[in-house]
Amino acid sequence: MPEADSIKTHYRTCHLCEAMCGLEIRTRGDKVLSIKGDEQDVYSKGHICSKGAALQDIHTDRDRLKYPIQKAPPAQQQQSEWCWHSATSWLLSVSNIRR
Ligand code: SF4
Repeated sequence: MPEADSIKTHYRTCHLCEAMCGLEIRTRGDKVLSIKGDEQDVYSKGHICSKGAALQDIHTDRDRLKYPIQKAPPAQQQQSEWCWHSATSWLLSVSNIRR
């Protein structure tokens, strides 16, 4: 069976709120087949709310940010993609964060 056709199970943590519920996510290739609570998670014990169960909608949302965006001054109404290195270098240059 080709790798893309095999079903994989991934154990992750939901990042949508401070409860950080454990997730069991089944995938085939790039497609999410199911998202449910991880019953082995010591805190959430298999519980997830409707937001956690709908994480696939966020993952596939065409408006989801996938890279840093550099905003131009409002009059120009432009945005441009930024690479992570440039974005973090800029952030370090304008903040008191130290490496
Ligand atoms: S599944 Fe719901 S309750 Fe759990 S971390 Fe995600 S958003 Fe919070």
